[in-house]
Amino acid sequence: MSRLYPIEKYRNIGIIAHIDAGKTTTTERILFYTGVSHKLGDIDEGTTVMDWMAQERERGITITSAAITCFWIRTRDVGNKEKEHRINIIDTPGHIDFTAEVQRSLRVLDGAVVVFDGVAGVEPQSETVWRQADKFGVPRICFINKLDRTGASFEKAFHSIQSKLTPNAVALQFPIGEEDAFSSIIDLLAMKAYTFEGELGSQVKEAEIPVSMLAKAKEWRQKLVEKIAGEDQGLLEAYIAGSEISTEKLRAVLRKATLNNTLIPVFTGSSLKNKGVQLVLDGVLDYLPSPADLPSVKGIDVKTSQEITRSPKDEEHFSALAFKIASDPYVGTLTYFRVYSGSLQKGSYVLNTISGETERISRIFRMHANDREEVDDLFAGDIAATVGLKDTSTGHTLCDSAAPIILEQISFPDPVISIRIEPKTKADQEKMGLALKRLSDEDPTFHVKGNLETGDTLIAGMGELHLEIIVDRMKREFGVQANVGRPQVAYKETIKKEATAEGKYVRQSGGKGQYGHVFLKVQPKARGEGFEFVDEIKGGAIPKEFISPVEKGIKEAMDKGILAGYPLVDLQATLFDGSFHEVDSSEFAFKIAASMALQDAAKRAGLVLLEPVMSLEVMIPADFLGDVIGDISSKRGRIEETEDKVNLKIIKAKIPLAEMFGYATTLRSLTEGRGTFTMEFDAYEEVPGNVSQEIIEGKRR
Ligand code: GDP
Repeated sequence: MSRLYPIEKYRNIGIIAHIDAGKTTTTERILFYTGVSHKLGDIDEGTTVMDWMAQERERGITITSAAITCFWIRTRDVGNKEKEHRINIIDTPGHIDFTAEVQRSLRVLDGAVVVFDGVAGVEPQSETVWRQADKFGVPRICFINKLDRTGASFEKAFHSIQSKLTPNAVALQFPIGEEDAFSSIIDLLAMKAYTFEGELGSQVKEAEIPVSMLAKAKEWRQKLVEKIAGEDQGLLEAYIAGSEISTEKLRAVLRKATLNNTLIPVFTGSSLKNKGVQLVLDGVLDYLPSPADLPSVKGIDVKTSQEITRSPKDEEHFSALAFKIASDPYVGTLTYFRVYSGSLQKGSYVLNTISGETERISRIFRMHANDREEVDDLFAGDIAATVGLKDTSTGHTLCDSAAPIILEQISFPDPVISIRIEPKTKADQEKMGLALKRLSDEDPTFHVKGNLETGDTLIAGMGELHLEIIVDRMKREFGVQANVGRPQVAYKETIKKEATAEGKYVRQSGGKGQYGHVFLKVQPKARGEGFEFVDEIKGGAIPKEFISPVEKGIKEAMDKGILAGYPLVDLQATLFDGSFHEVDSSEFAFKIAASMALQDAAKRAGLVLLEPVMSLEVMIPADFLGDVIGDISSKRGRIEETEDKVNLKIIKAKIPLAEMFGYATTLRSLTEGRGTFTMEFDAYEEVPGNVSQEIIEGKRR
């Protein structure tokens, strides 16, 4: 019952990339090389690499788990089992439509490898993900992949990282040859060349740098050393004085700078041609943080509501964050979680501080490339999965019930689009309920509304593609066939100014009467701030027990909407006066009175419709620029920037989601099929008057 690897030998990383940059291929190679090195160093001497690979192929390398554990010893430490590290690779989604997925994975990983295409360099999506990683302060290393491709250029791709993403990028390597001629990689710190031989390049061989490359390597090394020296006063003085600086010292300072996000090491290679991936793994150990390098995780003490921290130590109280729910064909619903502090034993109970439920941890699994390992305990920094939790969703905190804490939550945006969905047959209807529940448990940005019995069900998500994928998964994974309606925009309503109103619900004809009476004030709140209820009743004008029914009445009226039946958001409602009747007052009467007052006050406060507005990036050959911009403008889009990129134009715009249905088809026909685009939710904005009128009337019709 103790940990096998000290926390300093852990790396929790993600591999992030623009679609097609080679994330899948790189991950497969990582799993292959780490599997080989681990197995070779293992007791299992009899298993040759070839045998192991054959088995692996049979079972198929699983790279779709939310987190996979593997092991690595640096190339320069090969054979020294003491130096083995545990790497947990957390899956990050490739498509930008699911920014919530990106965010939740960024939340639990400690460092990232960002993969680029050596021909395309920095692509629009890589920029979006890069900014998100900035927001979470995630230390990174870069891997310029596909250096074997025609048109690949290490220098060009490196400069695009420097100019578009960060001036802090430093090249740690330089390739020998490019495109067809790409043969090996120079390590600019060690000043050695590396080749990759044997099965899938699994044998890394060190050699001297060819004389023809020496001058170039020296020139690039100087740039690198200068940058590193700039990060450390002592080193800078030594550098200026012209003293020899050891590679170890340079590595140590570069590690510190990478952890602080002041330098970002850049590696290169070709995953497909089996070159360079092992050195990237060395880089993960050398430069990316272990959980112990990070500041203590923050949370709220449930008992005192004060902010507290938990350090990444086994002796601390247990705290963990559930970050992914997934279904596994063999064991059922898996909940993946990251342990931030303390330890956890199989069979113990933990408290979910969000749902309030106590959950039993009956089994604990670590996912490997080719199998699932059941373990008895976990420690700070671990990432693993459990089964059979009753009431734990993505973003929930699990902790020691003796020291309840709520870890900083992952915030997910509300869905912006919905589609009516109807099961094709009676049999589909039964399965659909289960399928939708599973899928919405897995994905916090996917919601299900309405009545499954009557078949009047709405599914809501972050975009057309998001919902298409859900419907497709329902078909493939759950065997449910369904008819889907046309996508609807999730509008909202809000108010523009302050107003007050009275609500009175009095019935005194026969039997027990009804009496509820309130005065409300409504005030706008900033976009996204939601609803706040303030109770300013003094001197018992309304008895305590009727206050919460008033709040309930307000919320119900807001959910129903007023202008066109869309939920009313972002306002403060203050209950400041009212009256009651000794006999006739009831919770019900106050709920109704509050609901009437809210509707009236909101009408006086200038109701408006809000619509989701998207950030759009369109990439097109320059010839089509005029047509595409014209089309965006006709769709109420605002062009923010156009950028040049070798033969291509990139248009960045903000545009209402309502205008974007079927845009894939529009863009195809505008650009002879040569345009591509990405789109993500940006913000809710007020709908212009004329458009708003049409929506309201359309709704009424
Ligand atoms: P992902 O979308 O980022 O997961 O990318 P994949 O790993 O699926 O790769 C996309 C395509 O690029 C596939 O056809 C790969 O075979 C190819 N590819 C990946 N890495 C390399 C590489 O290093 N060189 C070349 N030439 N092609 C590569």
